[in-house]
Amino acid sequence: MFPLFIGFSRRRTRNQPAPSRPQSSWLLVLLLFGCLPAGFAAPAQNQSTTKYILFLTADGFRTDYIEWYDPPTLRKLIGEGARVVHVKNVFPTVTTPNMTALVTGSYPRTTGIAGNTQYQKEDDKIVAKLRDNRAETISETLHKAGWKTGGVNHFMLENRGTDYYRSAGYDDAEKTTDEILDLLDHKDVHFVGAIYGATDHAGHQHGPRSDEVKQAVLGIDRAIGRLIDGLKQRGILDQTLIAFSADHGMSAYEPKGVSIDAAPALKQAGFTVATSQEQMKPDTQVVVLSEGVRLVYFRKVSEAEKQKAIKVLSSIEGAEVLDREKLDALGCHNNRSGDLIVSPLPGYTMSKAGAPGGQHGRFAERNPILFFRGPGVKPGVTVDTAETVDVVPTLLRLVSVRPAATVEGKPISSALER
Ligand SMILES: [Zn+2]
Repeated sequence: MFPLFIGFSRRRTRNQPAPSRPQSSWLLVLLLFGCLPAGFAAPAQNQSTTKYILFLTADGFRTDYIEWYDPPTLRKLIGEGARVVHVKNVFPTVTTPNMTALVTGSYPRTTGIAGNTQYQKEDDKIVAKLRDNRAETISETLHKAGWKTGGVNHFMLENRGTDYYRSAGYDDAEKTTDEILDLLDHKDVHFVGAIYGATDHAGHQHGPRSDEVKQAVLGIDRAIGRLIDGLKQRGILDQTLIAFSADHGMSAYEPKGVSIDAAPALKQAGFTVATSQEQMKPDTQVVVLSEGVRLVYFRKVSEAEKQKAIKVLSSIEGAEVLDREKLDALGCHNNRSGDLIVSPLPGYTMSKAGAPGGQHGRFAERNPILFFRGPGVKPGVTVDTAETVDVVPTLLRLVSVRPAATVEGKPISSALER
């Protein structure tokens, strides 16, 4: 069963009698008013109807890897589609909240997924492996609209609207492509949300400017190339809408570190601090979680102690304290994102200054890749700015499916034919 997408059918009025010998001026008028009589072809870009969506995400794929490492298939797809140059992801720029934002079109304030781990006041617990997303996923929305849906490696889509789910090995790009093609061939899915993971691990271990990251980028590119060939062989490439995105970018550790990390600064000032569930004690006053930035949660402190803690954190050189107002403006959750976040200033790193390898979590890693290619997407277009929460509403607009009430992003209309 597949829904009919009236929005991308040829624009013509069936009731209008076709003139036996149309004059060119008639045709011009008809074209101007978007009314093409039967028998006249619509512009080429409107002829294909989207029947498939591949929502592909590469973990930690910094957008300038395209220019640095020149992956040929991704370059070609970008040339045929619309690329967003400056992509704002959600803060902090770590994986779980961003993978969630990508597949829901919602900020952490709505999904409830604020970090890779988070302190949950209502449970008085630091929770890891967060899956309790409160917003509707794109696979749930499409499933309700009659689409058959699949997920490969996308842990935020498992049991969340996917009819079929496969774990292909997070870093195994070739196997990921195999599983996507298998779902198309044998399960008749028309939507797949998949993660190609290798770029993140290579980036963490070796830093963004490394041969290992280059090989990871080119490996993903080869696997995407085989996926595109597979779509061509099946005769469905022209009917396939592709989004290629990342959850966050990747940076080398800065040579300069902040003057002192948040947890030791608070401990020195006399606070009892926990940085993990194991360290939680009945008298723990402050929880500090490390996610490139520092999420600070006040557990048992008086107002005077809170002000003292803010003073201590504000005196850290090379970092800024983001208060509630700033966090709200970023779409952070009203308490799961911390009562405040200590964020290193540009050029500074919270810990491991000068260490080999790569990091993310800061504002500096708001540089993930994002492009679209397929029916209804303007070819060869560059969009200056968009957010990762805009991906879901953009894809849904292209297949004329109404977004869920939890979607906070907007369609990137400058990337779309109409
Ligand atoms: Zn990631």
